[in-house]
Amino acid sequence: MKNRDFLPYCLPSIGRSEVKEVVNTITSGWMTMGPKTRKFEEEFAKYIGVKYAVAVNSCTAGLHLALLAHGVGNGDEVIIPSFTFAATANVVVNVGAVPVFADIDGRSFNLDPKEVKNKITKKTKAIIVVHYAGQAAELTQLETIAKKNKLVLIEDAAHAVGSKYQGERIGKRGNTTCYSFYATKNMTTGEGGMVTTNNEQIADVLSKLRLHGISKDAWKRYDKGGSWKYDLEFAGWKYNMTDLQASLGLHQLKKLEGFLRRRNKLANVYKQELSGVEQVDLPVELKGRFHAFHLYPILVPKKNRDDLIEFLKDEQIGTSVHFIPVHKFDFYKKRYGILASDLPVTEQVFLGEISLPLYPAMKIGDVKYVCKTIKKYFDRNEKV
Ligand SMILES: *Cc1c(COP(=O)(O)O)cnc(C)c1O
Repeated sequence: MKNRDFLPYCLPSIGRSEVKEVVNTITSGWMTMGPKTRKFEEEFAKYIGVKYAVAVNSCTAGLHLALLAHGVGNGDEVIIPSFTFAATANVVVNVGAVPVFADIDGRSFNLDPKEVKNKITKKTKAIIVVHYAGQAAELTQLETIAKKNKLVLIEDAAHAVGSKYQGERIGKRGNTTCYSFYATKNMTTGEGGMVTTNNEQIADVLSKLRLHGISKDAWKRYDKGGSWKYDLEFAGWKYNMTDLQASLGLHQLKKLEGFLRRRNKLANVYKQELSGVEQVDLPVELKGRFHAFHLYPILVPKKNRDDLIEFLKDEQIGTSVHFIPVHKFDFYKKRYGILASDLPVTEQVFLGEISLPLYPAMKIGDVKYVCKTIKKYFDRNEKV
């Protein structure tokens, strides 16, 4: 039998319309932030149903600016999950604040509001909530906690563009919300990000901070109607999106609903095929959510986890682990010294988690092959 081609863990879906738009931008004479970025921001805000959208060059940049715009800095504490990508914590460190890790619940792997409450001190300034795998966290409870304690709630929606909570898209509630358009995410601009908010003042500061600190329409200074004169309100960053990225984003956004439907369909096939496998725990879908299924995370017995990843690789299947908890990385271990017993759920989930391949370009047959191979692994292991 012919060997199967390797099934990558993820692949972006870029079509002809994206390619045409990029070429059009290259030949238009305007490649950096300009009219297409502006249009992408407008269309994105409309899609989410939020007042303001500010395009940046990554979700990490967006989270960094979100903290700065809300005045989070030296000595402040920011409550975050450890079960996230390192960027969520790095930005906290990089504004001079202290990341305080709260545990997740064992069903959705999202922040447990009770654990968040327990971590609040006089120094707490903000909470960053991550919508893990594309499933909304307990937003109402977290908003109540934030309001009661006068904390800023920032949403890390890197997995959750298009995800819904109580019938509304993540971001619509108007909290400062950061999205990622990294190559692996549910829509991509290669690298890129967006920050949304209903707060006009925050939007204004964000749009200045992303471009050196100069006034909002700084990019227009090279336009016919522009002027060489500008002023600086802050010492800002160079975090702007470019029209090359926005060219991709405009078309990816149009396709997003289709991508999400396809992800949900494939996730359903995983569910059907794996629900009888005793050693596998499937993702729990909570009520009142529309899951964006950025990831398809399963739990297996921890004694099998690493071995199964290798077995799948030998059978031509790419997988990943989301996430190595941030507190386990050398830098965080040395600086904050968090014990495994401080975050027991995070530790347990990490040891059993595998993210299976899931992206719109996958075929139903690919999903079935992955499931068949997982069953083969456990059947074989039962016999020894
Ligand atoms: C991918 C990711 C980020 C970072 O996104 P970039 O656009 O690559 O900066 C932040 N948080 C989470 C949870 C992510 O998965």
